[in-house]
Amino acid sequence: MGNIPHSTATKSDPVLAFEFDNAFLRELPGDPEVGPWVRQVEGAAWSRVAPTPVAAPRLLAHSAEMARVLGIGEADIRSPAFAEVFGGNALLAGMDPFAANYGGHQFGHWAGQLGDGRAITLGETINAAGQRWELQLKGAGLTPYSRTADGRAVLRSSIREFLCSEAMHHLGVPTTRALSLVGTGEAVVRDMFYDGHPKPEPGAIVCRVAPSFLRFGNFELPYSRGDLLLLRQLVEFCIRRDYPDLASEGSMDERVHARWFGEICERTAVMIAHWMRVGFVHGVMNTDNMSILGLTIDYGPYGWIDNYDPDWTPNTTDRHGRRYRFGWQPKIAYWNLMRLGQALSPLFEDVQLLNDGLQRYADVYTREDRNNIARKLGLRECRDEDVERVQELHQLLADAEVDMTLFFRGLADVDVDAPVLQPFAHAFYDDEKRTAAEPVFDAWLSGYAARVKEDASDPGERRLRMNAANPKYVLRNYLAQQVIDRAEQGDPSGIEELLEVMRRPYDEQPGRDDFARKRPDWARERAGCSMLSCSS
Ligand code: AMP
Ligand code: MG
Repeated sequence: MGNIPHSTATKSDPVLAFEFDNAFLRELPGDPEVGPWVRQVEGAAWSRVAPTPVAAPRLLAHSAEMARVLGIGEADIRSPAFAEVFGGNALLAGMDPFAANYGGHQFGHWAGQLGDGRAITLGETINAAGQRWELQLKGAGLTPYSRTADGRAVLRSSIREFLCSEAMHHLGVPTTRALSLVGTGEAVVRDMFYDGHPKPEPGAIVCRVAPSFLRFGNFELPYSRGDLLLLRQLVEFCIRRDYPDLASEGSMDERVHARWFGEICERTAVMIAHWMRVGFVHGVMNTDNMSILGLTIDYGPYGWIDNYDPDWTPNTTDRHGRRYRFGWQPKIAYWNLMRLGQALSPLFEDVQLLNDGLQRYADVYTREDRNNIARKLGLRECRDEDVERVQELHQLLADAEVDMTLFFRGLADVDVDAPVLQPFAHAFYDDEKRTAAEPVFDAWLSGYAARVKEDASDPGERRLRMNAANPKYVLRNYLAQQVIDRAEQGDPSGIEELLEVMRRPYDEQPGRDDFARKRPDWARERAGCSMLSCSS
């Protein structure tokens, strides 16, 4: 297998010896060809391919929480062997690297075979608690699915993926995780805005971690090829490995398949409701970027809402149709689930079962959205009038250019006996608009205050509940960009500093108010702060 040495680290360093159980490779058919040359791969779920070694791997940041889950000690994280393994230069005993084969709908169109073009799974570890965690390097070099690209990733996009994976986890949003960020010591050439100005940038590799990296696109590809054998194998594998509670019901009949699809719909709804609660815009909700476990996956040109704007997309590639704008995420997820349902349809005699799953998405999303409204407004229950109240507020926030995070966080401090806009001054981006909007906001706040009084919950409890739903600290685009600028100048320490703040997004953190401010003016139109290309 390849020319990558198996690390000798395991002998001197027993903690870096994971237990592996590579079920995906063992239980699903693979590509007989080994290595990275670009090809169409039929009838197979994966291709064996080793990471391509890099010049000088160096650990730039790691997640202490994820390391703990995997049973890796702090000293081992700092060992050279760690950077070698997670930079793709060495394999531990039991690692058996591969790239997965999948397709997908990109921007609404079927794109055919895509696959892991720069992600390489090292193996599926089983930790001390018996949990399965797949370790995957992103940016580890060419695979059969690299098409015309280089299999690498730049530092800026790797920092963004590393930080956001962990920030989302701490916000309570279902997500894939990140263990480490390793600088490769090699340059990667990128034309950031696809405008004929390619330049070398530092390269990096993130080790991302999830119980499963299966995507909707893994199922769409065999469906598109009429390969029902592989489709069925994948479905049954996913149920057995990733949804074991469903598998234990006995034989894999249509009802089990239907319950599985329903679960996927439910988890997707829960995930999207979280995105809408915290102001996260994924930016590339193609079906190859939709996790079968309902995890946020593939952090590319994502962004966070500063001034509330349902039409905002961070992705410059999407600026014309704005398909992946903030406010459309719930319906795009539904569209994506329809594509998955279609791919699964050959396994169903009764397609109504699939429609039931889609209905479950709609029902669960509505339930979660209402739950969020109650929590964000500090009410014991969400009534129909409260849904209207929030819609009205969203319109006001959009019209007057108000910061979403700061405004909702500030709601917990409204004096219900004398509600006024003044304490929200710091959340406005435009003073003139604030002055003009003051009467309508005052009116909204009076209505809100009256509703809160009627709700008659304990003020202390109400505040706690609101603060647990309205984060104070989110990974604002400009905060990540500042850390990237520093890291590109050679100082990566800002990455873990920012991660430290994002560990407790709902807590007041004295002395860290700089991390909770609205986007500064300089960041308004700056690349990386207000817009991002897919170039990564
Ligand atoms: P994404 O939009 O990042 O989800 O990527 C879509 C497809 O392009 C996936 O199949 C990726 O693996 C592939 N891809 C993206 N960037 C690269 C790269 N630098 N090298 C090889 N493949 C890539
Ligand atoms: Mg992707």
